[in-house]
Amino acid sequence: MFRVRYLRVTSLLAVIAIFAFSSIISYQRYTEASKILDVTLKTGAWASSELEGELLRFLNTLDLFRIGERTPNDLMLRFDLLWSRIQVLRVGEETEHLRELPGAQEMLNKLDQLMKEVDPVVLNLQVADIQTAEQLGERYRTFAPAVRRFNVESFSGRTKLLELRSTHDRQHIFFLGLLISGAVLVLMLLRENARSRAQALHDPMTGLPNRKFFHDQLKIAEARSLRAGSRMAIYLIDLDDFKTINDSYGHSAGDRLLIEVARRLKDCVRQQDTVARLGGDEFAVIQEAVDHVDVSARLARRICKQIMLPIELNNNRVYPSASIGVSLFPNDSEKAEQVLINADTAMYLAKKDDGISYRFFEPEMNTAIVRRKRLSNDLSIAIKDNQLALFYQPIVNLNTGKIEATEALLRWHHEDYGYISPLEVVSIAEQFGLANQLNCWVLEQACRQNQRWIEQQLPSLSVSVNISPTMYTQYDLVGAVKKALAVSGMDANLLVLEVTEDTTMRDIETSPDILKKLRALDISLALDDFGTGYSSLSHLKRLPVQKLKIDKSFVQDLNNIPTDLRFIRTILSLAQSLELQVVAEGIEAEKNLKDLCLEGCHYGQGYLLSRPVQPNEMAELLKQQGADKLLFSCGNLTNIENTG
Ligand code: C2E
Ligand code: MG
Ligand code: MG
Repeated sequence: MFRVRYLRVTSLLAVIAIFAFSSIISYQRYTEASKILDVTLKTGAWASSELEGELLRFLNTLDLFRIGERTPNDLMLRFDLLWSRIQVLRVGEETEHLRELPGAQEMLNKLDQLMKEVDPVVLNLQVADIQTAEQLGERYRTFAPAVRRFNVESFSGRTKLLELRSTHDRQHIFFLGLLISGAVLVLMLLRENARSRAQALHDPMTGLPNRKFFHDQLKIAEARSLRAGSRMAIYLIDLDDFKTINDSYGHSAGDRLLIEVARRLKDCVRQQDTVARLGGDEFAVIQEAVDHVDVSARLARRICKQIMLPIELNNNRVYPSASIGVSLFPNDSEKAEQVLINADTAMYLAKKDDGISYRFFEPEMNTAIVRRKRLSNDLSIAIKDNQLALFYQPIVNLNTGKIEATEALLRWHHEDYGYISPLEVVSIAEQFGLANQLNCWVLEQACRQNQRWIEQQLPSLSVSVNISPTMYTQYDLVGAVKKALAVSGMDANLLVLEVTEDTTMRDIETSPDILKKLRALDISLALDDFGTGYSSLSHLKRLPVQKLKIDKSFVQDLNNIPTDLRFIRTILSLAQSLELQVVAEGIEAEKNLKDLCLEGCHYGQGYLLSRPVQPNEMAELLKQQGADKLLFSCGNLTNIENTG
């Protein structure tokens, strides 16, 4: 941007310099031309006076010849000189304007004719040939008046006018040139000014109005709405994971995405609406004359739909997503600028919803924002000061009834807000750039704890750790795992990373790669909350996971919708063919447990077996298990009813 401006100013200065230079040169040339013209005019005038002088001298020599005071040679010399004067005037550029005088050309031709005629006579003239000399004198004398007139006119009258006209013409041309150059320069300055103005108000990459222009437009739209008594809606649109796209595919791919999003947004709105790029990956829309809130909801949905269309970036198919906040004027505030702030608040909360989403502003949101900001501040301190805790929930082998694994689950008790759900903690961490610290902390704590139990001679368990989405895409997860294993001293094959379907789908092209790298560390991978996402069978086949965790919603639905057992059955046979272990989450009812046992589900986890517990309680459970006090065993089940 700065470079382009710099280039413009430089080229403008260059044009001015060229203009000044050319003016100087043209002025010099004009002066030179005037001088030449002057000389030319003088030369002409001088030639005409010389003609008259030479004619008089020739006539005088003839008179002197007659009285014997001049020789034929003297006469010949004068004759030649006269002829050469005539020739000078008949031809030659500098005397051209003299020939244009009335009768001049004719007079010169006649004189020339006479010269040719008398040439042999003058050549052969004898000393005493007075009569011939007299005859010659008479013939030449007849030319004297015409030559005189010619001489006089060459100095004055029309010639002077010619001189003046010529000077004026040239002056006019010079001033006209000056005027045109000046006008061109002024036009260029005006154009440059208009361009700079347009540049100052538009984003050069997408061509959309920029933040400044957007605020101007907002004021105008506000005034229009007030006059018309109509509603307007303001949308703030922020792309999700734009940093990841820049990091993974390069900045030019990121730029292409922004240009494409700008194009899609423009396609969504009407001519009278405004689409602007406020900066980075943030866009805004002003929708005027909104009859009904539904109209805004429709536009929000259309924007969502358009943005999430796939785009090819460096031969990769990327599915962009965005979070949208909408606020209405004057419903949400009587000041348009406040409505913009409201839209920002709504967008901020839409960010924490998964995937593409939009939210309309509600007054309670401000309280939610205050809470989230406070939590984000305190979370960063809590991670550093070890104020967070991990609870562990047993994962039981349904055949043997033994705890074979635990899942580490995050717990945070905030001094003012009380218990904060791990889902909210993770979402805050993701939004405020704390994901890496949080996940590293959990990984390290879980591995250390698991190693402690082993050191306490308790049965060796594997530990499952939930990893949040951005860890796979934005941070060095492989490095974090290596570090956690190193500091804890735990065997890699005891660690299971839980990845959600949503995470693997976010970047469908690269997720198998990162998962393979993790697999190469000899750790296991589990696909969490299976069934809630969009995994296709082919996608599942490509993912190097060893375990599937059936989401608790399916297990719990077994109570209400008996046919859901068919779904579980299908997953189990799918898992069998892909050689995957299956863990059923959220087992709360004994009946669910029986059904799952009958279908041959390998592992179970749920409140019925055990709630997530503190590390010392887990140690207790393991000790009891050692004393053959099992949480549960399929073999112990009585009155099994097949509900399938
Ligand atoms: P998840 O990974 O699917 O974890 C299982 C969730 O189900 C846990 O909720 C657990 O307490 C709950 N649960 C277990 N058995 C039952 C049951 O019988 N009935 C019901 N209704 N719920 C049961 P929790 O601890 O609230 O965690 C919620 C989610 O938060 C987890 O779902 C996981 O996605 C995420 N999460 C928890 N801890 C962490 C963490 O340390 N890091 C990350 N990135 N995410 C975590
Ligand atoms: Mg989990
Ligand atoms: Mg789960």
